[in-house]
Amino acid sequence: MARKFIAAGNWKMHTSIQEGVVLAETIASGSRPSNVQTILAVPFTHLTTLQKKIKASSKVILAAQNCHHKESGAFTGEVSAQMLASIKIPYVILGHSERREYFHESNQLLADKLRAALVAGLKVIFCCGETLDIRKAGNHVKHVQTQLVESLSGITAAEMKQIVIAYEPVWAIGTGETASPEQAQEMHASIRAMLQKMYGKRVADNTSILYGGSVKASNAREIFAKADVDGGLVGGASLQAGEFLQIINSF
Ligand code: PEP
Repeated sequence: MARKFIAAGNWKMHTSIQEGVVLAETIASGSRPSNVQTILAVPFTHLTTLQKKIKASSKVILAAQNCHHKESGAFTGEVSAQMLASIKIPYVILGHSERREYFHESNQLLADKLRAALVAGLKVIFCCGETLDIRKAGNHVKHVQTQLVESLSGITAAEMKQIVIAYEPVWAIGTGETASPEQAQEMHASIRAMLQKMYGKRVADNTSILYGGSVKASNAREIFAKADVDGGLVGGASLQAGEFLQIINSF
């Protein structure tokens, strides 16, 4: 099994550049296990400054939180995957539930964004997850499978090397409520089984699947201990360097 352990922080629309520099430098200089990849998904405005501030030796990787599906054009306020690639940003988050909810991003649009990111040479953290209503109705596994099948349909087995999946139950994001380790494992195992059906066992075994939804230092260890959980996508707790470093050290 060659899949990576990953702790990714999603800063969302938080921090001034001054606060961001302090936060990123503190995380980058903290002690972290060498087998865990640290990714910081920061606001667009922070990317180039943080790239210069974070020492290459710290092995902290930067990500954008979104990109447009077209290479360029009259799309005021948007940033393309090509633009991110041109400043050598290696990763982008796509399909976060806040983008799906507030910006009406559909599975089809996300398929186009995935294609654009891969064409530009970016790696993608692709998010999926169900709302509470869907879970209560018992349709959560089917819902997540549909999200993935519809957005990954044009992606080849070779391209899956560039993709990390993040399972983020919407009811657990920013709510303080976390999926139990068993709920996370159930969904991660079903996502891996689905990847196996679509791409074969090698791809399924090698794809990192992260859990996101109120991960904290106090619950990370038991969630990350589950067989199919390869790390976390962390929102609120990634804004506190000490807390995030504890999470990174929870594998
Ligand atoms: C997220 O934004 O991806 C997230 C999981 O947020 P939080 O950790 O705050 O629930």
